[in-house]
Amino acid sequence: MKNIRDYTLEELENELLSLGEKKFRAKQIFAWIYRGVTSFEEMTDLSKDLIEKLKQNYIIDCIFLDNFQKSKDGTIKYLFKLTDEHKIESVLMKYKYGYTACVSNQIGCKMGCNFCASAKIGFVRNLTPGEIVGQILKMEEQSGEKISNVVFMGIGEPFDNYENVMKAVRLINDPKGLNIGARHISISTCGLVDGIERFSNENIQCNLCISLHSSRDEVRSDMMPINKKYNIAEVIDACKKYIDKTNRRITFEYALVDGVNDSKEDALHLAKLLHGMLCHVNLIPVNKIKDGKYEKSSVEKMMAFRDLLNDKGIVATIRRELGSDISAACGQLVRDEKSRLN
Ligand code: SF4
Repeated sequence: MKNIRDYTLEELENELLSLGEKKFRAKQIFAWIYRGVTSFEEMTDLSKDLIEKLKQNYIIDCIFLDNFQKSKDGTIKYLFKLTDEHKIESVLMKYKYGYTACVSNQIGCKMGCNFCASAKIGFVRNLTPGEIVGQILKMEEQSGEKISNVVFMGIGEPFDNYENVMKAVRLINDPKGLNIGARHISISTCGLVDGIERFSNENIQCNLCISLHSSRDEVRSDMMPINKKYNIAEVIDACKKYIDKTNRRITFEYALVDGVNDSKEDALHLAKLLHGMLCHVNLIPVNKIKDGKYEKSSVEKMMAFRDLLNDKGIVATIRRELGSDISAACGQLVRDEKSRLN
């Protein structure tokens, strides 16, 4: 059965035409989908005949709440079950400016980053656009809150599921869809250079985040095996071309690991690498995962690292950690409880 949430409005119009229906019906159905309805019967302005046809050809609800946990800081971590019984996690975070959804885009991940729990669980498949937007609709339904920001920082590498992620981005951004401004959508990649190049041509104002984590190839290759395919120089070159083309600022994510990438020399080396770039560095303490070898840096070391970058003209901030008490922080999401640390 096809998932009706997988379609853009234009595609849905074609689906309706192929069912022998008028094009304008698509607009009505699309509006219902993004009002969060989960059954065709709730679409009260459609005829009984059309509802029957839709039921025979499509499903709406493709993602089901299995469990959720609330952190001391208000962060909610959701465990969702998909129609093929696989599970994924998503996170809802409350900031001063509103609610941010952190969505998964794959079941598992192929990239194998050493500090990431999602890497330890193996790769199963890509999520469809409907399964990605479905996470946001379900989080809004469960929490009763309107989500105003979306980050692709959950399970999976977005540029390894490029088409589905970009279609989901369009559905999230569509004024008739979830109507979330492009500037409120962030995509985080481990540095797939071909994806960065492709993204440069999308003509959409989303934010691009790069998981850098070290400015030295030997250290980065140990933390992130993808560095053996696309080294730091290649990633930075692709980022510079992206900035030239879009005039948009890039965020570099840097997880500070005690004794691995958090020295004064590391900060100076990073400042030199990023010198003159339109960018921002987000410093995060690495999070402990099951069987993980990394320990987070002390607060003093993190502050010293940030100050050194700022002194050298690189804008750097320490990100407030949300949800680490429920394993909902960066790099801690999994698709089943067996891989859980706590
Ligand atoms: S950090 Fe991201 S890219 Fe790396 S293994 Fe985890 S989910 Fe995949």
